[in-house]
Amino acid sequence: MNQAKVLAQVARSFGERPAMSLGERVLYDYRTFADRVARLAGGLRALGLASGDRVALVMKNGPEYFEVMYGAWHAGLVAVPVNAKLHPKEHAYILDHSGSRACVASPDIAEALATVRDELPGLEHTVVTGTAGYDALLAHDPVPVAPVAPDDLAWLFYTSGTTGRPKGAMLTHRNLMVAVMNYFGDVDTILPTDCMIHSAPMSHGSGLYGLPHVAKAANTVIPESGGFDVAETLRLIERWPGCSFFFAPTMVTRLINTPHIGQADLANLKTIVYGGAPMYLEDVKRALDVLGPKLAQIYGQGEAPMTITGLPKHIYVDRDHPKWERRIGSTGFPRTDVEVRVVDEDGNDLPDGETGEVICRGDIVMAGYWNNPEATATSIRDGWLWTGDVGAFDEDGFLSLKDRSKDVIISGGTNIYPREVEEVLLRHPEVLECAVVGRPHQDWGEEVVAFVRPRPGAEVALAELDRLCLDNIARFKRPKEYRMVADLPKNNYGKILKTELRRQLGEPAG
Ligand code: AMP
Repeated sequence: MNQAKVLAQVARSFGERPAMSLGERVLYDYRTFADRVARLAGGLRALGLASGDRVALVMKNGPEYFEVMYGAWHAGLVAVPVNAKLHPKEHAYILDHSGSRACVASPDIAEALATVRDELPGLEHTVVTGTAGYDALLAHDPVPVAPVAPDDLAWLFYTSGTTGRPKGAMLTHRNLMVAVMNYFGDVDTILPTDCMIHSAPMSHGSGLYGLPHVAKAANTVIPESGGFDVAETLRLIERWPGCSFFFAPTMVTRLINTPHIGQADLANLKTIVYGGAPMYLEDVKRALDVLGPKLAQIYGQGEAPMTITGLPKHIYVDRDHPKWERRIGSTGFPRTDVEVRVVDEDGNDLPDGETGEVICRGDIVMAGYWNNPEATATSIRDGWLWTGDVGAFDEDGFLSLKDRSKDVIISGGTNIYPREVEEVLLRHPEVLECAVVGRPHQDWGEEVVAFVRPRPGAEVALAELDRLCLDNIARFKRPKEYRMVADLPKNNYGKILKTELRRQLGEPAG
């Protein structure tokens, strides 16, 4: 079923409920939201776009985001939400690769896009939000929701591309529907009196988890900054009852590390779902102490979005469980409707406790990569998605992710999982963040290097870090070098760019 149809149904039954808010202000209710979407769909159709055509959203978070997304689906089109912070050349690559015939852009991004216009012969229309062109789309007569089949494309999800060119994961209407239903089934309940605050990019997890909120007539709240500002986030939590967020782990740690967080009024905070990158045990424990039992975790990827496995709130609350620490440090158990296995390179199941590649099968798995049959054939084999993640199940079926396979360090022929070393370094009270990568080494193949970001104003003694490692992990896993840094390179989704760190290591010292 088309998510635009879901919206139309919700608007009939809950038309008076607030649908869209900017900062602390309600902009319009569900009746108006559905009407604007139906008009915008008419406007997109009037541009000459036909079912299955791609419309790119090159926009920062804003009230227009869901208007355009639902408008595209209402018109039977495919939405291509693009990370707003990419370079114009990267935007051009995705627009061109997806064959987008139209694009809706925020004003500043539209200016930057104009510089790469020559690279986009297939792009016929660029509509800029906040201009007469956008208003003209909304001025069109409403049209009925276009019929779609479950396997029709809905969302082309370009992977974050921490290595190589981004690939377009083809998400169908079926994929979106099971993502929505799974939120209710495995993550959380949602009431019309709740809201979702989009502090994280709507082109990624926050946008995907906005869908179940729309499906339950909850309010969509867009921060005025259009992004994540801790002081603003705390103000919005005080303003909006029943609020939920989707956060990258680095956003959770920024929130809990903010001074005076202990005095913040968090009574309205319902749930923070985090995922998209590892969150270390020490950070999870502190987040629970600071925020209370409001955390849920998901592990997914663009190719099987929201989720493969997850950890619901009740596991975090169960502190007396003998395996509590191990469980909250894991990525949880398989979602209800997905099969998950850990296998060797030939696809044979590995016993519990042994590390191998995580593969999964179910209705959440993408249809393939857009215009890339080779990559599709590598990723989906016999109906199973090979995630590229390395992990192990415990005896109770909780999956611990070790790393992306490409981040595993091989030293002297032995695998070293950076996450294990990172977990240990983070036990040092003055370490705020760290990342462990491999550096090419003549004799060993690779050697372990740790980038360590101390807390502001703190100094971390190398001997103390070394002692922590000696006390907790095998000697060969110990970093051969610790680099103190003021910051770690991250992409717009808060993922640490290990490729960039490896690049830095490749440069001559000094
Ligand atoms: P993306 O396709 O950009 O969402 O990135 C997906 C990748 O992020 C996964 O393949 C994992 O490597 C990583 N990831 C996602 N969720 C988690 C999680 N909860 N814990 C650790 N890593 C995660």
